[in-house]
Amino acid sequence: MNTVYIGLGANLYEPQAQLQKAVEALHNHSDIKHMVVSSLYASKPMGPQDQPDYVNAVAKFSTILEPEPLLDQLQLIEQQHGRVRKEERWGPRTLDLDILLFNNATITTPRLTVPHYGLCDREFVVFPMLELTPELCLPNGTALKDIATNLPRNGLTTLPMTQNKET
Ligand code: ATP
Ligand code: MG
Ligand code: MG
Repeated sequence: MNTVYIGLGANLYEPQAQLQKAVEALHNHSDIKHMVVSSLYASKPMGPQDQPDYVNAVAKFSTILEPEPLLDQLQLIEQQHGRVRKEERWGPRTLDLDILLFNNATITTPRLTVPHYGLCDREFVVFPMLELTPELCLPNGTALKDIATNLPRNGLTTLPMTQNKET
């Protein structure tokens, strides 16, 4: 089994609900087991500022999927949640699912860079990861808590828990 951390983000059409639905989709996936999810966080957008704030979280799970088949599954879930890929980088989106860490692997292929290239610079990734695993180290041996020491929170806040709607 592979241990994976993924980052979830959304800033359109009730982003909090989008993230909750994405967590549900991951949870229901037959190749994804033992998932734990951080709190939901509100964060400021990167790049273009004329877009709503983001909601972010990090999930950790076990999977038998190899990295690229996992990316296929994550992109499928993005599409199923209405993600439309646009030219503009870092533009608004209903759902973004990025592979942050895959075991202790370093991966560089045309489709995948792992650890995710933005991991260490993004407060909305580093702080939720630390919430899940305070002692987490990157493949190069750097402790994530040491990265957090010098990382501005940039307005990052945890969101209050919402009640699951009864169905
Ligand atoms: P950013 O990568 O800066 O967070 P983004 O998530 O909005 O931006 P996407 O449009 O979701 O970017 O993805 C662009 C491409 O990034 C994907 O088609 C995928 O092949 C590639 N990619 C490379 N490394 C990763 C990774 N670790 N996780 C997810 N996608 C990745
Ligand atoms: Mg991303
Ligand atoms: Mg992405």
